Formats: sequence, structure tokens, C-alpha cells
Amino acid sequence: MIRTEVIHQVLEDLKPYHATLVAVTKTRPQEDLQALYDFGLRIFGENRVQEMVPKHEALPADIQWHLIGHLQSNKVKYIAPFVELIHSVDSFKLLQEINKQAAKHNRTIACLLQMHIAQEETKFGLDERELFAMLESPELLELENIRIAGLMGMASNTDDMAQVRREFAGLRETFEKLRSWLPDIQVLSMGMSNDYRIALEEGSNMVRIGSKLFA
Ligand SMILES: *Cc1c(COP(=O)(O)O)cnc(C)c1O
Repeated sequence: MIRTEVIHQVLEDLKPYHATLVAVTKTRPQEDLQALYDFGLRIFGENRVQEMVPKHEALPADIQWHLIGHLQSNKVKYIAPFVELIHSVDSFKLLQEINKQAAKHNRTIACLLQMHIAQEETKFGLDERELFAMLESPELLELENIRIAGLMGMASNTDDMAQVRREFAGLRETFEKLRSWLPDIQVLSMGMSNDYRIALEEGSNMVRIGSKLFA
């Protein structure tokens, strides 16, 4: 079941920031995705390839599928024909594989580089040094079938909202630095059900919201 009132509210919250909603549909049954579609949403985020592929096959073709979870190189080939945006690129090796698979389908796949901003050890992502090393690598220019569109980050899972805000603000700073020398960088994906308002205040223009949308 989807919570229509809540979705209206979220969309209202996003408006002043011109931010995009990625409806995170992981673990949800197909009926829920269809309900979101009928409501009018078209951008769905999934965190597992094995789940995204059958949903993509079963649901309307004009849905834009975003991969938001950790991606293994050997799974890229399954989503390369259709994925709209990959939020979770955290290595050059993965970028190379996405490029290779995109080329097979004559596509350019847009990618976000995932930054590690949380306190937790377990969250994936690059630090700033790794990010700039990757972007300065001459080999990057050879990857003609990917486009680096921006950055993604997940804040710590904590009740300390001041800390969450600091983490988002830090990512925003990195984003601005990057944008000053790479004009293609436009997307700053940060904010989930519990922290998206803070993320918007700190400069997010794409939020990934799941649990809040469902009853
Ligand atoms: C699950 C997930 C979300 C959405 O989280 P909610 O708390 O359900 O809104 C956002 N981003 C990523 C990477 C996720 O895995």
C-alpha cells in the first residue's frame, strides 16, 4: 500500500529546491510499484540487480530505473541495457565495466560517484582523496560510454541530526568543488526518509525515499 498523502507532502517539500524524487522500491511487491506509477511517479530506485531486472521487465517501459545499492562488476551486464542512473559507483574498475557494458548497447550510462560521509565503517564509498585521484586519472577520458553526473552520499544512521547535517554539508562542499571544474556535474543525491529535509537544506537536488512512501 502506498501513502498518497505522504507522497503529496514529499513532492511539496521538494518543490522549492527543484529536487527530484527517486522512489525507493526495494523489497516492495510489484503492486506497490504499479500504484506509485499510477500516482504519476516515474523514477524508481532499487538496490539489488536481481530485484531490479524482473521489475523492469514486468512494469511499464517509461519508468526510469536507478540503481542505488552497492554494485558488483559481474552484475553490470544485466542492467546496462536499461538503467538510467547508477548512484553507487565507488571504484574505477566498476566505472570501466559500466563503460564496457554500455558500449555493447550503444548507450552512455550516467553515473554518480558514491562518497563515504558517514561515521560507520560499513558504508561504501570514496573519500575525497580517492575521488580526485579517480577524476584526474588520464584513463577516465577513454571511457566514452559513461558520464559522471554527480555525487551520492548516505549520512550516518543516527539521531544526532547536527551530525547528519555536517555530513551533508561536507558532501555539498565536495560537490561544489567538483562542479567548478567539471560542467557535467549536476546531481547531488542525498537524503532518505528520515533526513531528506536536512539534505535539501544542505543542497541536495535528488532524494532517495523509500519506507516513508508505504503503509
Ligand atoms: C533503502 C535506501 C534508501 C531509502 O531509505 P528509506 O529510509 O527507506 O527512505 C535510500 N538510499 C539507499 C542507498 C538505500 O539503500
